[in-house]
Amino acid sequence: MNEQWGESMKRLLLVVNPCAGKQLIRNYMVEVVSLLGQYGYSSTVHITTGRGDATEVVSKWGSNFEAVVVVGGDGSLNEVINGVLSIRGNQPKVGYIPAGSTNDFAKTLSLPTNIIDAAHRIGQGKPRPMDVGECNGRYFTYIATFGAFTESSYNASQKVKNVLGHFAYVLESVKSLKNLRTYKTRIETEDKVIEGEFLFGGAINSTSMGGLFKFDPENVKLDDGLFEIVLVKKNNNLFKLLKAVTDMKKPEYESDVVVTCKASKLKITAEENIDWCLDGELGGTYKEAEIQNLKRAIQLIK
Ligand SMILES: [Mg+2]
Repeated sequence: MNEQWGESMKRLLLVVNPCAGKQLIRNYMVEVVSLLGQYGYSSTVHITTGRGDATEVVSKWGSNFEAVVVVGGDGSLNEVINGVLSIRGNQPKVGYIPAGSTNDFAKTLSLPTNIIDAAHRIGQGKPRPMDVGECNGRYFTYIATFGAFTESSYNASQKVKNVLGHFAYVLESVKSLKNLRTYKTRIETEDKVIEGEFLFGGAINSTSMGGLFKFDPENVKLDDGLFEIVLVKKNNNLFKLLKAVTDMKKPEYESDVVVTCKASKLKITAEENIDWCLDGELGGTYKEAEIQNLKRAIQLIK
């Protein structure tokens, strides 16, 4: 027993997705709980039972804890953040121990990829404010997209994701290049209106997306209340499209293929229903999507 053990310990809710990634977490649970104890946290462990469970548990019980730490992938983090933001009043801080197959966002956050190192980081880290996005009432931590490149993550089964990791994203994306669908849309931000036929659109709070492209980290802040907006226009020229991936990195840019800008609010109106992808999962089908950046909505321990 260490000296801190007892009443002065901070209450922590550990939300564990047992199916995440290669299920490695099963081998580390005792060590993670013990380690957090050494940092003065008394852990209550919740093993999730399926989709939506983490959100429900955090929403109901989260306010009793100083911190809610999620062990899983970006999808599990998304669920926990949806739970935390549904709490009126005492919202717990959030910690993330990446153990999924697509820890895309964990890379942006520069979190350790090793479970034990990540647990140490929770123990030693400080809460830092982070923006969260909202798309028609649903929260996302790092990305809301429509069109090409976006179906991949939720189409790939957990098994495929486990085996292929982020290549699942990439392979699916390449496959979808063959039959590029486009969407006639009108995008209104707080200071501009962009109309056209797009094959991809995204509001992003991250420095990268699925290993497909990276922004210049110098230009991206996760707590400035602004998204990086990327729109790729209809184009059948493969070389131009490949170049577009490079052009997306530019902070304010417009060419015949790509538009990039920053915005805190946007409304996307389409002629037909569009599937939206939030943090790599299907996040609703809408003709009209209202997206806003909730500046510094959560405190992330890192
Ligand atoms: Mg930002």
